[in-house]
Amino acid sequence: MVTLEKIELKNFKSFKKLSLDIPKGFTAIVGPNGSGKSNIVDAILFVLGKTSAKKLRANRFKELITYHNGKREEYSEVCLYFSNDNNIFNVNADSVGILRRIKKSGETDYFLVWKENDKEKRKKLSKYEIIDLFRKLGLLGDTVISQGDLLKIINISPIERRKIIDEISGIAEFDEKKKKAEEE
Ligand code: ATP
Ligand code: MG
Repeated sequence: MVTLEKIELKNFKSFKKLSLDIPKGFTAIVGPNGSGKSNIVDAILFVLGKTSAKKLRANRFKELITYHNGKREEYSEVCLYFSNDNNIFNVNADSVGILRRIKKSGETDYFLVWKENDKEKRKKLSKYEIIDLFRKLGLLGDTVISQGDLLKIINISPIERRKIIDEISGIAEFDEKKKKAEEE
């Protein structure tokens, strides 16, 4: 399974520029109120394909672009770098980024980002390519548990909880296939 290694933000909400290495193991982001912790989570959700800006606490996608001194920057970019385990990304690099860019018009584009001979390479991905890639990486669907969801998970029955874990880990898909095969 791929692991998230680094998050890079450019003009995303309160961050003009941020490069955050994610060490192996358990990571916690701490800081005072309003310092941007939730904005980092919003950035991750944005790349993972949230189609509604409201879920990212903005009215429209373009509002995710940094607004400073009465002016909005031209664009915003968020890049999540993953370990290229078993060359799942099919490019010659150890770490590969999935970048989502927002233009002032509110339109967004996806790119694959990697380094070749110390030079950054970018390849634009179509809607179908990005969905395919997320499926391959096991990142399709609700892979991030938000504040409200966590309370729900604590309060539900163990069977319901197991269902959610199966869904996230991708086991549910095999259960469905097994059930179908048994019926045939
Ligand atoms: P808390 O501990 O209260 O949950 P937090 O660390 O999660 O705080 P965030 O909610 O991530 O903080 O950050 C909120 C800040 O981000 C606010 O100061 C808000 O003004 C700022 N912000 C949100 N969108 C933008 C934007 N487009 N441009 C500039 N700043 C923005
Ligand atoms: Mg917060």
